Amino acid sequence: MDKFIVIGPQGAGKGTQAQLLCEDYDFVHISIGEIFRWNMAHHTKLAARVTRIMNEGRLVPDEIVEEVVRKRLEQHDWNFGFVLDGFPRTRSQAEYLFENWNLDRAVYLDIPDDVVHHRVMYRASMGQGAGFTKRADDSPAALRVRLKEFHDKTTPLLQLFHDKGMLVTVDANRTIPEVYQSMREELGLGDPPAKR
Ligand code: AMP
Repeated sequence: MDKFIVIGPQGAGKGTQAQLLCEDYDFVHISIGEIFRWNMAHHTKLAARVTRIMNEGRLVPDEIVEEVVRKRLEQHDWNFGFVLDGFPRTRSQAEYLFENWNLDRAVYLDIPDDVVHHRVMYRASMGQGAGFTKRADDSPAALRVRLKEFHDKTTPLLQLFHDKGMLVTVDANRTIPEVYQSMREELGLGDPPAKR
């Protein structure tokens, strides 16, 4: 059973890389951001609590996120493992995770802020056309807030993962296939079953 976390700032490619891993190795992709966006699209009660926060680029309060993660992980709908995308992002979330679940590795997609800025503004200008998803939080103001949140609250967790011997750092300032290849190598994943 493989249980991975993918961590990185907005635009680092967390969703894309997590998705590739899941397609190739039959892991379940669990994106907390996607769960929130689904709720927003369906105008749920949860959406009413998080929409403004998300659109401003701020982090949703820990107790809300932890509840969402708990409900999602309790479904146990994976056979081979899961990739948790965008969680944990704070010290409290990390502690919650360690208390409740055994994780194997945390992949940090390392990318400079100026590249993030360029990528996100490109995503915002492309809209849904070329496989890019336009999001309400892809605005310069929200991006500034998100990057600050990332550096203030999420970057310190890297030390925690490092101390637990779980941290894998991948240079994310490369093409999607290059990043994917390095990530697979670092995680010790062999060729995907379908391609053997
Ligand atoms: P993402 O799709 O991972 O970039 O997440 C989009 C937005 O959802 C974030 O900017 C936060 O507002 C919210 N969010 C997602 N995951 C978390 C988390 N672990 N903690 C707090 N907020 C989160």
